[in-house]
Amino acid sequence: MSHHSQLKFAKAGPFISGLFPLRIEGRSANTRGMLTMSAQTLMRADWIAACGFHSMGDSEVLAEVLNRIERAHERVQSESGIRPVLLLDLDSTLYEVGPRTHHILLEWSETAQAREFYKVREALLKAESSHVGYSIGDTFGAIGLDVNDELVLQAQHEVKLFWADRFFSNEYLKHDHAYPGAASFTQKAHELGAEVIYLTGRDEPRMGDGTRENLVRDLFPWNTPRTHLLMKPRAELPDLEHKVNAQTYIRSRGGLIASFENEPPNVVALSQIFPEAMHVFVETVFSDHPALPQDGLYRIQGFQG
Ligand SMILES: [Mg+2]
Repeated sequence: MSHHSQLKFAKAGPFISGLFPLRIEGRSANTRGMLTMSAQTLMRADWIAACGFHSMGDSEVLAEVLNRIERAHERVQSESGIRPVLLLDLDSTLYEVGPRTHHILLEWSETAQAREFYKVREALLKAESSHVGYSIGDTFGAIGLDVNDELVLQAQHEVKLFWADRFFSNEYLKHDHAYPGAASFTQKAHELGAEVIYLTGRDEPRMGDGTRENLVRDLFPWNTPRTHLLMKPRAELPDLEHKVNAQTYIRSRGGLIASFENEPPNVVALSQIFPEAMHVFVETVFSDHPALPQDGLYRIQGFQG
């Protein structure tokens, strides 16, 4: 690690305790002296501020990953190394899921129930995919709904139930978009010799078929040697547990070169399990999952480099 990121890490020390879930409110108020932003935003921004990221641009990070895969592959060819492995999360890492939620919100707007919530319905009908946040509450806020209003809160509760019944299903996965450049980056890594492992919190029973169909549709390496999809065997298994459990399979395929993830707790867990690899935090949608700060991570905004 560079001296620079050590400094950044030390400077951010006082933030660390506040990142434990039970202290979020107090810490937000104390360190900022005000609560003008939502707790989620502060948590995520503070986690980012407290981490020691390598100061590299997106294209540099992506090039470095490909470079390391290529070099590892060369060592395999000369029989002095193990196969390079690339680990990729799906939702909000390779795939933009906003359009999936957006479609569900529009469907709800067409229900008889939505007519009981005129203001909410009108706002949702005007919403765009780019307004979709990490949670339904975030999205409601982004389209100008007053989330302290009783009726809005009631609608939010109903929408959330409607959304949860549909979001985690094969049928609605078709609305997802691959982020620009994500498939071509993965193709390049695969061509350079990487074992490509998609490690996702999606579960096989509800989302297996749709996930595989999208990988084919969006031209990600699939149905070809050295590609793997690790889904949760059942919905109830927590994502983090599933991702931590995957380490045995990952090691059985070779040596991990890099992981890509948008959820701070997952990035941190993977970086602790595989300290020798590059761990890339993909900065897409806001997550409200708190995590401990971690030094030595990489960070990109997207795959276009
Ligand atoms: Mg994700």
